[in-house]
Amino acid sequence: MREIPHWIDGTEVSGTGDRRLPVYDPATGERQAEVVAATGPEVRAAVRSAAAAQPGWRAASLSRRAEVMFRFRDLVDGNRIQLATLLSAEHGKTVADAAGEVARGLENVEFATGAPHLLKGGYSEQAATGVDVYSIRQPLGVVAGITPFNFPAMVPMWMFCTALVAGNTFVLKPSEKDPSVSLLLADLLRRAGLPDGAFNVVQGDRSAVEALIADPDIAALSFVGSTPVARSVYEAGTRAGKRVQALGGAKNHMVVLPDADVDAAADAAVSAGFGSAGERCMAVSVVVAVGAVADRLVEAIAERIGRIRVGPASDPDAEMGPLITGEHRDRVRSYLDRPGGQVVVDGRTLPAADGPGFFLGPSLVDHVATDSAYYTDEIFGPVLSVVRARTYDEAVALVNTCEYGNGTAIFTRDGGAARRFQYDVVCGMVGVNVPIPVPVAYYSFGGWKASLFGDLHVYGPDGLAFCTRTKVVTSRWPDPATSGVDLGFPKVR
Ligand code: NAD
Repeated sequence: MREIPHWIDGTEVSGTGDRRLPVYDPATGERQAEVVAATGPEVRAAVRSAAAAQPGWRAASLSRRAEVMFRFRDLVDGNRIQLATLLSAEHGKTVADAAGEVARGLENVEFATGAPHLLKGGYSEQAATGVDVYSIRQPLGVVAGITPFNFPAMVPMWMFCTALVAGNTFVLKPSEKDPSVSLLLADLLRRAGLPDGAFNVVQGDRSAVEALIADPDIAALSFVGSTPVARSVYEAGTRAGKRVQALGGAKNHMVVLPDADVDAAADAAVSAGFGSAGERCMAVSVVVAVGAVADRLVEAIAERIGRIRVGPASDPDAEMGPLITGEHRDRVRSYLDRPGGQVVVDGRTLPAADGPGFFLGPSLVDHVATDSAYYTDEIFGPVLSVVRARTYDEAVALVNTCEYGNGTAIFTRDGGAARRFQYDVVCGMVGVNVPIPVPVAYYSFGGWKASLFGDLHVYGPDGLAFCTRTKVVTSRWPDPATSGVDLGFPKVR
């Protein structure tokens, strides 16, 4: 069985542990490789390598660091298909979808090339007589990234591009379910000229994460995954004195007002609900149909679902692939037996849903009760719920009382209603007639409530703030002739 290695000090390193974690081909259900879960000493070796490389990398000029990012940008661009094919073979998403993921990751590399400008500090001349004050941004040291299975290329790129260009070194612990693309990214960074040790990968699961949290040389942890794990990593990491941002799960509501274009709203709901088999943290999982639009909307969504082609990533016509594991598919499937909604389209009727691959067809559940598991749980699969609301206020109250606050969207032709929605909703990312409002790389990504623990969002300006710390210098170059003792408290006036 093929083993997925770690990447330490600029090269692949075989695992030595005795715990083996399966990497499946989700389209066939076959075990195609294994992760040899990192042991404590292996995690320590990766962190030590990153800590040893950090002073040298920090000392590299800003333009040198940016140059590495420019080269990395070209290498990612030139290897889009290789990256996409590799990740879809382990994740199961279509190659076109995987290429979209790589493209959104690439945006973060491009943002990082501009870091020399973005890392500029401030300068106040003559803050007091003969005194200047200025701020500088310095790296934290070694930053660790812990990432989920659903975006094995993009989410690591959210983290390491800004961390590296700011002068940190990095240890990535990718998802054990689709780990290979992290090694190709590591090799592209090496080819771009990143010094050995500046980027390391440890393969594994919970125990590798615990070793990273406990390691005194890790200054900061950037985590993306489910809410229970995000919460525990945030708590354990901050208790260990580290800076932590931990992004969690979601239940994204798409509110459709009565004046919305029903066809456009149905297209958006189906695209955002079933793209990547619903395994996106920004997937629309609840459509909130306001007033009289509901029946027409449900009909239009059901009609479109009937045309979705489900198949393996190797089928160029497939639009939706399998789920990540058999266990996860069975969990998602089990919701369709639950009370609290009317199943309008049942994904279990897909012939492949009974095959060895981890397929489940797209499902639509109408009249979902807000106290049912359809509504309260992050199902993270191709099950789209419809909740019917009588008024705009009722719809907004649903968004605002939801445990999660990652993304939400409104579909309407009324600019005033859209503006009011943007003002009213308690949620980190809002779409106006845009169902998946993932911010471009020069903004930052992050939810509110149980979708993010910590203060700063990931990538963009918040990402740079997260992986740097500010130092403020107060400076005087006195004329020796004017110097004298003064025990008074320093004043500026
Ligand atoms: P997960 O929480 O199971 O795993 C995420 C990472 O944490 C993996 O690297 C995993 O190995 C590690 N891990 C798992 N259990 C752990 C534990 N008990 N202690 C320490 N580490 C542990 O998430 P997943 O199933 O890989 O990804 C899907 C989840 O991620 C969904 O909830 C989705 O909404 C969320 N997600 C959120 C965002 C966001 O930006 N908010 C983005 C992508 C995915």
